[in-house]
Amino acid sequence: MAAEKPHLNLAVIGHIDHGKSTFVGRLMYDAGAVPPHIIEKYKEEAKQKGKESFAFAWVMDSLKEERERGITIDIAHKRFDTEKYYFTVVDCPGHRDFVKNMITGASQADAAVLVVAAPDGVMAQTKEHIFLSRTLGINQLIVAINKMDAANYDEKRYKEVVEQVSGILKMIGYKPNEIPFIPISAFFGDNVLNRSDKTPWYNGPTMMEALNNLKEPEKPSNLPLRIPVEDAYTISGIGTVPVGRVETGVMKKGDKVIFMPGGASGEVKSIEMHHEEIPQAVPGDNIGWNVRGIGKNDVRRGDVCGHVDNPPKVADEFVGQIVVLQHPSAITAGYTPVFHAHTAQIACQLIQLNKKLDPKTGQVKEENPTFLKAGDAAIVTIKPTKPMVIEPVKEIPQLGRFAIRDMGMTIAAGMCMSVKQK
Ligand code: GDP
Repeated sequence: MAAEKPHLNLAVIGHIDHGKSTFVGRLMYDAGAVPPHIIEKYKEEAKQKGKESFAFAWVMDSLKEERERGITIDIAHKRFDTEKYYFTVVDCPGHRDFVKNMITGASQADAAVLVVAAPDGVMAQTKEHIFLSRTLGINQLIVAINKMDAANYDEKRYKEVVEQVSGILKMIGYKPNEIPFIPISAFFGDNVLNRSDKTPWYNGPTMMEALNNLKEPEKPSNLPLRIPVEDAYTISGIGTVPVGRVETGVMKKGDKVIFMPGGASGEVKSIEMHHEEIPQAVPGDNIGWNVRGIGKNDVRRGDVCGHVDNPPKVADEFVGQIVVLQHPSAITAGYTPVFHAHTAQIACQLIQLNKKLDPKTGQVKEENPTFLKAGDAAIVTIKPTKPMVIEPVKEIPQLGRFAIRDMGMTIAAGMCMSVKQK
């Protein structure tokens, strides 16, 4: 059996109607990931209606219709391959739970494609999504300047939009000169898989080449050990077995570990993955492990396991940078929503609103604002209502992000800048 290719999660971001769904459809179609029987079925229908040359559009429309009618089809998995990687397309920001899933690690994106329609250029959500990507720790971007067909494949217009997008990327902290910009038409397929003869002035990579050139995310093995606990089981003959995914660091059999905030500690007796005992666990491994002397009541979901000599930080207070995504009215000091960070869900109070930032530039707009509303970015001081592990993103990015939820919605996304420990 051939070795499995490395896997990347890909987010597709950008303003509404700029062509994100069409782009995903085009990727799947060009990568050969739409099942042939579905293509055949729609091609046949298109032919019967005399619309053969629009086979792709036909496939897209038909898939959309099926989606709308709630029919589950293979494409829903949204998996496609390039030569080097296999990709899963994760939901995009407008969708329910996207931010929460990214933060809790359920669908952390390794890279994002930002779709900007050439006729419109940069719009409100283009900026919001760039800021959000940064907050969520997506380090690799590809920019698709889409709908080039609707801009006469004009080089001048392309360059204008590239200029606009570069300005914003730079302000938010991305390096535009390290990011590929590609003129495409998702609809007609220009420069997605096949190099377009309509953009002779462009000699950069096609979309598939740019995806294939992404860097494989590094395994953070050299950071301190952190394993957020998803659950803890009692197994007869073994004892208490916490389960979770190693976020950072390496845990070996015999290591002395501690569970925070509770503080129970002991020596690792065994580590198990896929029902087999393993000598050590590395980032990305989903494991169950057994620690000498740890009982059922010493460990629970939301705890974090680390080495005794470098334990997870428990915050009495912490300072966070947040971006408010949606809120029906205004957020003021005293607001106490639920924070989701790694596997923990804990009510926390915003005890102080320190600074309001310009979400487009990150610059300070106002000191000590009285309230925050949707679209605002801010630095705030936060007090958990009970002990909680959170770490500065600068030190351990995987343990430094949080989503703020209330009323069944994700109100804000944020990252921890500093921690005042108990
Ligand atoms: P989303 O809201 O970003 O997912 O955008 P959609 O994929 O739903 O596309 C919005 C509209 O733009 C639809 O009518 C698409 O057919 C159209 N569209 C998408 N890509 C292209 C393109 O490359 N060229 C042209 N002319 N129209 C496109």
